Amino acid sequence: MGARPPVHGDRWRAALILTVTRRCNLRCAYCPTVKDGVPDLSADDARRAIDLFLSRYGGGDIKLFGGEPLLRPDIVEAVLTHVSDVSELSVYLSTNGTRFDAGILDLLRAHPRVTLTLSMDGAPKDHDGLRRPLPGEAPSSAAIDRWLPELLRLPRFVVTQTIAPSTAVRAAANFRALRARGIGRFNLLPGYYLPWSAAQLAALEASFGEIATEFEAAWAAGDRLYLRNLFVSAPTPFFNTGFVVDADRTIHPSNLVLAEAVGDRTAVGTLDDPPSPEALAAAAARVPALLDEVYTPDVMASTAAVDRVLTRLCDRLYPAYFAARDARAASGARAARVGAA
Ligand code: SF4
Repeated sequence: MGARPPVHGDRWRAALILTVTRRCNLRCAYCPTVKDGVPDLSADDARRAIDLFLSRYGGGDIKLFGGEPLLRPDIVEAVLTHVSDVSELSVYLSTNGTRFDAGILDLLRAHPRVTLTLSMDGAPKDHDGLRRPLPGEAPSSAAIDRWLPELLRLPRFVVTQTIAPSTAVRAAANFRALRARGIGRFNLLPGYYLPWSAAQLAALEASFGEIATEFEAAWAAGDRLYLRNLFVSAPTPFFNTGFVVDADRTIHPSNLVLAEAVGDRTAVGTLDDPPSPEALAAAAARVPALLDEVYTPDVMASTAAVDRVLTRLCDRLYPAYFAARDARAASGARAARVGAA
């Protein structure tokens, strides 16, 4: 979502974004990431990037991205082990959910402070229709189903519901399909930097209206239903801004570097020759102009329109969110008084 203040947690958080690997076993219809021709990050370089980030910023968020980071569980484990005692750091791991096994689940249970973000599209028809596996791979929804009960028991598990222009009309149905599978913590991600027709944008708006009604009803009933979009804002929709270390050890101000249209035009250094904080900030300031250069006006207009739809959803939900939060606090205070009496 665009540049709007978040509800809380509005302390600025420095972010280290590590591209563990560009490789991926899926070929999602809407994916902008260049997947081939770049070596994976090494565990040593991941640790080096973290130490550099800590020395510069003293703490913040570490986001493990790909490609599919769990194609390299050894690097993920090296990162989690390296930061396990550093309370100033929060770790986020994004995955397509096709590479879980008992060892990875044990690793996640051993690091309960890690926020695991799983990307899903909704009902299997849309999920598997858009998240096309490489030859020889099983449909990804089947792989997720195998481990979903275990994932739902993790303390910090969020599903990013990705919404393509072609499935916007079914976004509310897909949201309900995910809820029916026990998922209660969401991040909604409509496709940015894609062309959206007027009809598709209208479908997205209508679907988000239905989803907003679901949230309001759940909160009014005292149910815990979480929407991460309410708590984050970003200067550039979709792409992550921060101290970005790509899999080939180059350093960037944004993971826009992943997109084919951008290539390495955002590089400002390497792990051997890192940029100063001022050089990184100057490169970050050039990102909006670069976006205008590499995407067509239609795509930029679509992106802004999609972002406005998401912003309207959040703006509609804030009053219900605050009311539910205040009601919970009041009932907690009543329970405490009863307990103390
Ligand atoms: S799972 Fe992620 S990285 Fe892989 S193709 Fe899909 S969107 Fe791209």
